[in-house]
Amino acid sequence: MLKTHHAGDLRKEHVGQQVAVAGWVNRRRDHGGLIFIDLRDRSGIVQVLANPDAAPEAHSRAEEARSEYVIRVQGEVQLRPEGRLNPELPTGEIEVVASEITILNPAKTPPFYIYDDTPVDESLRLKYRYLDLRRQRMQSNIILRHRVIKYIRDFLDERGFIEVETPILFKTTPEGARDYLVPSRIHPGKFYALPQSPQQLKQLLMVAGYEKYFQIARCFRDEDQRGDRQPEFTQLDLEMSFVEREDVMALIEALVIGIVDNCTERKLLVKPFPCLRWEEAMARFGTDRPDLRFGMELADVSDLAGETEFAVFRDVVAAEGRVVGLRVPGCGSYPRAQIDKLVDMARDEGAKGLAWLALGEDGKDRSSFAKFLSEDQLAKLVARMDGQPGDLLLFVADRARVARAVLGSMRLEFGDRLGLRGGDELSYCWVIDFPLFEWDEERSAWDPSHHLFTSPAAEDVELLDTDPGSARGLQYDLVCNGEEVAGGSIRIHQRQVQEKVFELIGLDLETARERFGHMLEAFEFGTPPHGGIAAGIDRFVMLLAREPNIREVIAFPKTQQALDLMAGAPSEAEPEQLQELHIRLVKPAAG
Ligand code: ASP
Repeated sequence: MLKTHHAGDLRKEHVGQQVAVAGWVNRRRDHGGLIFIDLRDRSGIVQVLANPDAAPEAHSRAEEARSEYVIRVQGEVQLRPEGRLNPELPTGEIEVVASEITILNPAKTPPFYIYDDTPVDESLRLKYRYLDLRRQRMQSNIILRHRVIKYIRDFLDERGFIEVETPILFKTTPEGARDYLVPSRIHPGKFYALPQSPQQLKQLLMVAGYEKYFQIARCFRDEDQRGDRQPEFTQLDLEMSFVEREDVMALIEALVIGIVDNCTERKLLVKPFPCLRWEEAMARFGTDRPDLRFGMELADVSDLAGETEFAVFRDVVAAEGRVVGLRVPGCGSYPRAQIDKLVDMARDEGAKGLAWLALGEDGKDRSSFAKFLSEDQLAKLVARMDGQPGDLLLFVADRARVARAVLGSMRLEFGDRLGLRGGDELSYCWVIDFPLFEWDEERSAWDPSHHLFTSPAAEDVELLDTDPGSARGLQYDLVCNGEEVAGGSIRIHQRQVQEKVFELIGLDLETARERFGHMLEAFEFGTPPHGGIAAGIDRFVMLLAREPNIREVIAFPKTQQALDLMAGAPSEAEPEQLQELHIRLVKPAAG
């Protein structure tokens, strides 16, 4: 090695030792005589001192050195004199007094500072990602990610799981997003699909008798780049045989608790993780990804609202819709203009309107609808909402799904405004008992809520024939601070049930056989009951690292427009390549 020690490891106990360190010039300070260099390697920073009298050659090299030069320093570790101690640095009590400095490689001036975390435009960071990755924040994120993955591997290995790699060039997978296709050169007109997940393969590994499988798997989904998504991302993917829902959930819960306790300083808000039925999550929080760090639960006031003379409420309730309310503490003094903005927001979210009641601190209330209610009705409504002077009460009357969803996002909005979501705790919960299907108006068919291999609850199998919309699936999602971080299910392992599901989602048997024939066939060779889960590693590490998006925990991410700014991907192909692949380009239509 060109070094005897890592820069950040040097301490008082090394005083008097001759050492060699090597790394990058983080900063250089020329005091007109003495030159100080902060030498950085992955382990941290150590101060190097070049003294023109004691080591003139080394001092000349130090004079030449600039930020990000790669250098090697030989010298003696010495205690820093009184005034030069730096309690901020782990190495702050010592310095390396250089006897020899070698410039291993000069460097151009970097486009942004490496040594501090001043904000830099993200496209510049992504173009020079290798420099961005030198920065302290990125290094700790990437190292945290490594630790998390290492913990996962050890944890699962100890519990009898084996890691199996599955192909990247495969066939269309059923996660419901668009596939990335790869043209085949040797089979003209045919395409591989990149896996959206190893779903089918992990189930086939259960048929193959492996019983406990996992993989740190790359998944590819060609989705519109809305929100914080990447075209390729990493999942902890696992599958187990002879298990029930609770077995998979208990395993993942123990794993998550282990990671948080062992790889981070973060605290879990509640252990064991609360478990909510889907219906309950929707009713209380308006979403199947509830953020449980704060209360502000929704309240169903349909019974009270239906008795009033307020036509909006009454008609919706008569048509079997719901009136749902949200109490926002302390916002009853919002001026009218601000309340109108909330009404617009509700409309943007799909509500027809937003009814409101602002409870004044002085007992003077303002409202968009109170005049239609008797005093008694109003008092009952306020009491049901637990309204206090100074509160703002918001109501949406609509189909249950819409009313809950709109107030669910209002709840998050106010969670942000009132500073209830910024805390340091990690609040995990499970959501179970999802409906197996959602009705797709456009196709006039059922869509699987999870994917088409998810098993109905045993007691709901009969509903597939009579009332599919009421059948619950054996799906489970793990949610953290309002984000879905894992999802899985117990799978269908009987061919008749699988074929029934195909039929309900409008997949005729012939198409199903073409796409999943290998699965259907495999299921006839003795398939054990099995189930599994996949956890998004990027999002998980993002939450642990307190980062605002997953790009901060991926070494080489793409932009939100799915571009790699460093390498310039995607890029055009050579005409010969296209010819070999039997591809002729059609100019995209103008506009
Ligand atoms: N393959 C599923 C997903 O990626 C997870 C699972 O069912 O195991 O969402």
